[in-house]
Amino acid sequence: MAKQETLSKEQIHLEAERIQVGSELENLRAAMLNEVDTEPDEGDSEIFEREKTAALIAVLERRMQDIEHALRAIEKGQYGLCERCGNPIEPERLEVKPDAILCLNCQREVEAINKRNRGRAPIRW
Ligand SMILES: [Zn+2]
Repeated sequence: MAKQETLSKEQIHLEAERIQVGSELENLRAAMLNEVDTEPDEGDSEIFEREKTAALIAVLERRMQDIEHALRAIEKGQYGLCERCGNPIEPERLEVKPDAILCLNCQREVEAINKRNRGRAPIRW
């Protein structure tokens, strides 16, 4: 960071989370690489474990994107505004989920749409 600024509470929170998610991702990716060596006849549980790890990596990668997105929004002074409708996101919501990019209303709508579209790629704002 070039400028000497005081970090906001959200930034500190998000940075801490980014580091945490980043190290989890690193561990999981390393685990995946190790598991590639397992014998093919080790059975379904190995495959299941690997799929679980892959799914977890996908979730964390998505989370990482949200965190970075939120950090950029803070820099642009747009943090806390809903990406979809532009209204401020509920402060209680940001308290629990500092990387939220949608207000509660939009989040519900997006989830409802994704539920109807189950099986297809989820939409994302
Ligand atoms: Zn909204």
